[in-house]
Amino acid sequence: MSKVHNFSAGPGILPAEVLKQASEACINFDNLNLSLLEISHRSKNFEAVMDEARSTVKELLGVGDEYEVVYLGGGASLQFAMVPYNLLKTDGYAAYVNTGVWANKAIKEAKIIGNTKVIASSEDKNYNYIPKGYEIPKDADYVHITSNNTIYGTQIKEFPNSSIPVVCDMSSDIFSRKVDAKKFALIYAGAQKNMGPAGSTMVMVKKDSLGKTGRKMLSMLDYQVHIKGGSMYNTPPVFPIYVTLLTMQWLKKNGGIAWIEKLNQQKSDAIYNEIDRNSLFYGSTAVEDRSQMNVCFLMNKPELEPEFDKFWKDAGISGIRGHRDVGGYRASLYNALPLESVNVLVDVMKAFEKKFA
Ligand SMILES: *Cc1c(COP(=O)(O)O)cnc(C)c1O
Repeated sequence: MSKVHNFSAGPGILPAEVLKQASEACINFDNLNLSLLEISHRSKNFEAVMDEARSTVKELLGVGDEYEVVYLGGGASLQFAMVPYNLLKTDGYAAYVNTGVWANKAIKEAKIIGNTKVIASSEDKNYNYIPKGYEIPKDADYVHITSNNTIYGTQIKEFPNSSIPVVCDMSSDIFSRKVDAKKFALIYAGAQKNMGPAGSTMVMVKKDSLGKTGRKMLSMLDYQVHIKGGSMYNTPPVFPIYVTLLTMQWLKKNGGIAWIEKLNQQKSDAIYNEIDRNSLFYGSTAVEDRSQMNVCFLMNKPELEPEFDKFWKDAGISGIRGHRDVGGYRASLYNALPLESVNVLVDVMKAFEKKFA
């Protein structure tokens, strides 16, 4: 089998050793001669997985006991609804920053639950930049931001200082760089971009921000119920949580956030340098807001796209067609993507320029 360089935007690449460990656990988990998929989630073996999966998030994000971590089903998209349901007071309002498709979906749900105000937006330029310098209202219940915009390839470099709780959708760049997690009241991330497989969503929440809405809560949508149940109020998505734990262990073993931050910098530098140098390509986002996770670029001569597609496919590259809202190309450089794969893509772009420029 020849090597595939997987630039998929999501579900994204996972470390090869994690896939191997995960497949072994499907047959024989913890030497029980039972599959992880056929044991009780209340068994001590799985409880140990859940405990470590929760504590490792806190360790990697550097937060203490004022925060809780739960794993939920429903994807990041369910959090678009659960966040306002749990934090937006019945007589209050929530502030949102609109940076694209995901933010819009979050705003749509919040509007159903309560009052919302969009305080900044980059819609005027098809979301190719991050709004800055906006005022965060002091009387809103929280402000919601999206740290990385998977579709457009923009990323917040500096998080706003705020006197009100900050909620962040970190689905596509969690654990990719150092962040001051204590700045946030709540961080959520669908696992399938950068922390594990699809099927579970991580929510890290500051305990004292909960229970204040004045709303009668449905159990399954209540963070406090899940916290109280140790993220096992009902049967949790055991396999995605286990594979997420393996991926976090892989990250820790290799040097943690400090290691991956450096590697992600090298990877994104390599490709953005080539985009800027190469006469056939250009980046589609504001330079200062360029994402280290999703690198979006377009071709000066779009009629050459079929030729370029042949080039990268022949080199074993997979998953770099851009999102339909932006077009062109998108190379996703999630944590598990090695620098070697980026170098292959850069070489393909160079060879393509030589032939067609
Ligand atoms: C992919 C993505 C989502 C949607 O996640 P689901 O798990 O499919 O619901 C939400 N927000 C961001 C930033 C994403 O990248």
